[in-house]
Amino acid sequence: MIHVENLVGGEFVELEENFDNISPLDFSVIAKIPRTRYVGDAVISAKKALPGWSGLSLLERCDWLDKIANALEANIDEVARLESLDTGKPLDVALNVDATRSVNNFRFFANFGRNLESQEFEMDDAINYVLRKPVGVVGLISPWNLPLYLLSWKIAPALLMGNTIIAKPSELTPLTAHFLGKVCTKLGLPDGVLNIVNGYGPEVGQAIVEHPEIRAISFTGGTETGKIVAATAAPMFKKLSLELGGKNASLILSDADLDITVPGVLRASFLNSGQICLCGSRILVHSSIYDDFISRYLEELKTFKIGPVISDDHRTKVLSYIQLAIEEGGEILAGGSCPDKLGAWIEPTVIAGLSHKSRTATEEIFGPVVTIHEFDSDEQAVEMANSTQYGLAGSVWSKSKGREIAEKIDSGMVWVNTWLHRDLRVPFGGVKDSGVGREGGLWSVGFFSEAVNICIMED
Ligand code: NAD
Repeated sequence: MIHVENLVGGEFVELEENFDNISPLDFSVIAKIPRTRYVGDAVISAKKALPGWSGLSLLERCDWLDKIANALEANIDEVARLESLDTGKPLDVALNVDATRSVNNFRFFANFGRNLESQEFEMDDAINYVLRKPVGVVGLISPWNLPLYLLSWKIAPALLMGNTIIAKPSELTPLTAHFLGKVCTKLGLPDGVLNIVNGYGPEVGQAIVEHPEIRAISFTGGTETGKIVAATAAPMFKKLSLELGGKNASLILSDADLDITVPGVLRASFLNSGQICLCGSRILVHSSIYDDFISRYLEELKTFKIGPVISDDHRTKVLSYIQLAIEEGGEILAGGSCPDKLGAWIEPTVIAGLSHKSRTATEEIFGPVVTIHEFDSDEQAVEMANSTQYGLAGSVWSKSKGREIAEKIDSGMVWVNTWLHRDLRVPFGGVKDSGVGREGGLWSVGFFSEAVNICIMED
């Protein structure tokens, strides 16, 4: 049994009140999590650490990020084991996606910081230069689907720019954040630079967002929670980055190369049991290749291995959408039920025959469920792709028209003939109900700093 503790001011702190961390693989209790409701101590520690941390040079902080990357990498198997234990995802996904990309996040921002260019604007008689000051104490709140990967995507640039941190992992998946805390403490990261608090979102998450001395909130999670976070933070004029839900479309045009499209779209459908905000849960296929695509897709699906979903509650939600799809007139082409074993397992499920405006096809399910829709023209495909409240990501599969169609999709990111191909310098984020702001490269640097212009009159 693992005892997760909060990390406050360099000390690991246990609380009297704890709750169970349940494995989605078999519903066994794998850890005890502190039920935190108060973040005042963590904020005091973070404020105390701020002058020292922000007083380091950018290059010194880059060295720290490298040290963290190296230490995580040295323990990469343990990171993957803990992530797999906590989320139920297959070990190879935990290793190749979560653990590897968590290391990469720290290493990327270390190198990015070393190459960060200063911004200067010359006038005839004066020079302006931009000082990137830290925002101060920042609150970082993350979901359960890619626990350390998404938290480190915030921690690394926040540290780089000289901020001190109150981080809160999801109450469903606290193990790797706890491990990162141990790694950083062992490395001697100054006390209070990284504080980690655990507990339920409406309690400790809300306390972070409400705390007046936490000056920026970077939040990744559901759209409904994002609304609460935004409403709480706005009156205090906190900087706010919201990475929210999605209902992304994969558009398969008539000239798609099915040899790459079928495995690519399948991966976009079901990687991490469909629990990635970028997953393509609506598959739009041109009528001329519809039958061919479906038969190849369903054939390859037979060999695609997935883990359980995150919890019994989440499985209940996902199953309710499969039931809704049936009520809405959908035809289940594959899956649709739960394997007969303990744990939050659901078969990968493919549903056809629904309107692209049905609830099943427009609401975020966030599980191994996709709907397939047929279109006759590219204009119709674009109209269908843009017909939800979300606008996070999408993919277009075509030999000749990928770029043209990609530019017509109302979302923050579109891939052409690939999916989840990530360059960490590019903007990451959504439009419409998928969020506000961008992360990645310069966008993260901008969010985690205050740009101050200094204008100097020349003699
Ligand atoms: P969630 O919104 O329930 O929780 C996210 C985090 O917010 C958790 O740590 C939770 O404890 C916390 N939280 C809950 N209520 C809070 C409150 N009132 N104040 C502050 N924090 C609070 O989301 P989830 O179920 O953990 O994650 C799934 C969702 O995350 C999906 O909608 C998915 O699309 C989205 N997501 C988005 C991205 C992205 O980059 N856009 C990435 C991954 C996941």
